[in-house]
Amino acid sequence: MATRYIPTIGLEVHVQLKTRSKMFCGCPVEYGAGPNEHTCPVCLGYPGALPVMNEEALRMTALTGLMLNCQIADVCKFDRKNYFYPDMPKNYQISQYDIPLCLGGGVPLHDLAYPKDAQKTIATPNKVVALTRIHLEEDVAKSFHHENSSAIDFNRAGTPLMELVSEPDINSPEEAFAYLTALQQILVYGDVSDADMDKGQMRCDCNVSVRAEGTDQLGTKIEIKNMNSISGVRKAIAFEIQRQIEILSAGGSLPQETRRWDDATGQTNLMRIKESAHDYRYFPDPDLLPVDSRVFMEEVRKRRPELPAEKRERFVASYGITPYDASVLASDRALATYFESAAKTSVKPKALSNWILNELQSAMSNSGTKIEDCPISASQLDELVSLVEQGAINGKQAKDVFAEMFATRKSAGTVVEEKGLKQESDLGAIEALCQQSIAANPKAVDEYRAGKTGSINFLKGQVMKLSQGKANPALIGDILARLLG
Ligand code: ZN
Ligand code: MN
Repeated sequence: MATRYIPTIGLEVHVQLKTRSKMFCGCPVEYGAGPNEHTCPVCLGYPGALPVMNEEALRMTALTGLMLNCQIADVCKFDRKNYFYPDMPKNYQISQYDIPLCLGGGVPLHDLAYPKDAQKTIATPNKVVALTRIHLEEDVAKSFHHENSSAIDFNRAGTPLMELVSEPDINSPEEAFAYLTALQQILVYGDVSDADMDKGQMRCDCNVSVRAEGTDQLGTKIEIKNMNSISGVRKAIAFEIQRQIEILSAGGSLPQETRRWDDATGQTNLMRIKESAHDYRYFPDPDLLPVDSRVFMEEVRKRRPELPAEKRERFVASYGITPYDASVLASDRALATYFESAAKTSVKPKALSNWILNELQSAMSNSGTKIEDCPISASQLDELVSLVEQGAINGKQAKDVFAEMFATRKSAGTVVEEKGLKQESDLGAIEALCQQSIAANPKAVDEYRAGKTGSINFLKGQVMKLSQGKANPALIGDILARLLG
């Protein structure tokens, strides 16, 4: 029988923090500036230039640690990681070696964080992927390779970079996907980063190995770089697991190497073989004093936001919406804020949530609109909900009103008035239509009287048609039942 192989995956994630200035100098952290406009002697690595710590970057890292249940070190320190690279002018990176700011903790995975096609087959529901550590360091510059020359932009050099190292605790490409999605949501909730992989705000390296079932010893660890989307990470890991299994099954062996993911071909390719572990000659940076986190932790604790999992539970308890709907709303901070801004005063939060998750989300995705730029405000949408609840318009009319609101930014009340949409609730008028429909459909009437109660729905539909969609459906039902009774 063929050997089964078990994958072991660990992720190293680098996250750009949303500070106003760089890690060790006052240069702004901003996109869209011309090359090398945001530089100074410190971030250009001039000899003798002295670094000054950005305390906000420390606070954001500590906040991330709080959100992920890490232990926050009372005292941490910064070290020099020595290596040569053209985009790192000092020939060392300031990082944290043996005493990082955050230790342990974990990233809780939830069903909706998994890829859509894998949400029904989750191997370990509610898994928490263990973290080894979170530390803070500085980013390097960016190299550009032109036809006959290369150029470097130092705007990114020295910007704060937070590194989160997971334990080798992930067992499938889908779990890696869920890990990154859940992590991204939490980072956005804490407002520490926009964590957009597309924009390089969150970058991920994967360590992947496979071992034969029944053995404890981990296989050779292979590192994959260069993935710029969460789905790219999933694909790269899936490819790599398959590649390793094929080599091992054929009796081959795997050298320890670093591979690059190529999104276009859907393959990983060899970048370099690791002959020995790098010796970075770490030593404490003599220009930076150890950091005592106790001076800012009280303030950081106050900044800890309600997290997605907590919001989900509260939405279910406070607004009576389903756990699934609460999950969808809470997985996007902006969407959750939109819902809650109107749910608090809504006559029917559950109906409001339905409108958001159905009509509103499909209108937004069809028009490529983000919730931040939604043409219908949450309170306007809730006005529509209450018009339906009061019986002023019926469900079908509400959909037309919604479409008009989305297109014109007008309020529900204005659209209803302009279109002369009013639900017909006059008992006499509806009764006349009901009698008309009974007279015209003797077969359905007979069936109903013979005990096939579902036939009343056909008659209801006929009345609705006769009223040109204006009749109050609840009244139709009552009147028909009485007339047929
Ligand atoms: Zn600078
Ligand atoms: Mn790093």
